Amino acid sequence: MSNQEELIRLASEIKNCQKCPLYKAATNPVPGAPNPNAEIVFVGEAPGYWEDQKGIPFVGAAGNLLDKLLAKISVKRDDVFVCNILKHRPPNNRAPMPDEITACTPFLKRQLLTIKPKVVITLGRFAMNYFIPEAYISQTHGHPMSVNWEGLDLLIIPMYHPAAALRNGQVMKQLEEDFLKVPEIIEPRGLNLRYQSKRSVGAKILNQKTNSSTEKAHGFLGSRIKTNGQLVVKPAPPPEPEIEQGKLF
Ligand code: SF4
Repeated sequence: MSNQEELIRLASEIKNCQKCPLYKAATNPVPGAPNPNAEIVFVGEAPGYWEDQKGIPFVGAAGNLLDKLLAKISVKRDDVFVCNILKHRPPNNRAPMPDEITACTPFLKRQLLTIKPKVVITLGRFAMNYFIPEAYISQTHGHPMSVNWEGLDLLIIPMYHPAAALRNGQVMKQLEEDFLKVPEIIEPRGLNLRYQSKRSVGAKILNQKTNSSTEKAHGFLGSRIKTNGQLVVKPAPPPEPEIEQGKLF
């Protein structure tokens, strides 16, 4: 089974999941998107309002900022996989509860074990603490850590959440500085960002027939269109001019 097929199957499970109460008030699940073969995975906290509306991670103001930061290091959204600790939106964007994290993170684990990225960039303390439980974001942001996690050799780079940066100028400055350090952190470890776009071509054209039932099962099909029997990954739609409220980091 290809990474794409496995992520589709996971998205279907997430869509039908009732392991915690968050599915009840959510509009859409937000499993993650778009590159099933990404070498860099971003892990945030939970879907916000626009993510819940669209079923796509990191849209809205925080997603717009993430795309701008990616552009600063010559990376496109199609080059990476972006997801969250929680796959359904907590009411009013409140912080995830421990039992919700426990219930939901097996999906994140299966996503990562499928994609097998080299680098995981955590956005905010909840994502960071999933991999590095005792760490403090104020002390560890921008500092890479090599870990063996579930058999995967990962380079974890903790960063502040973009939503936090939108509310605090100092956090914005630190987030920008941390992003600009990414190339010099990862290139000595054999990952060259200049080749990321070539690698993502495989994610753009998926030589895979689909049907309506399969399509409905894709929690992340908000980023995909059906064209002559093939699935084609579309860039995320333009972010909405919204600054999300609530605690996201
Ligand atoms: S947030 Fe996660 S555990 Fe809770 S219902 Fe959604 S997919 Fe299931």
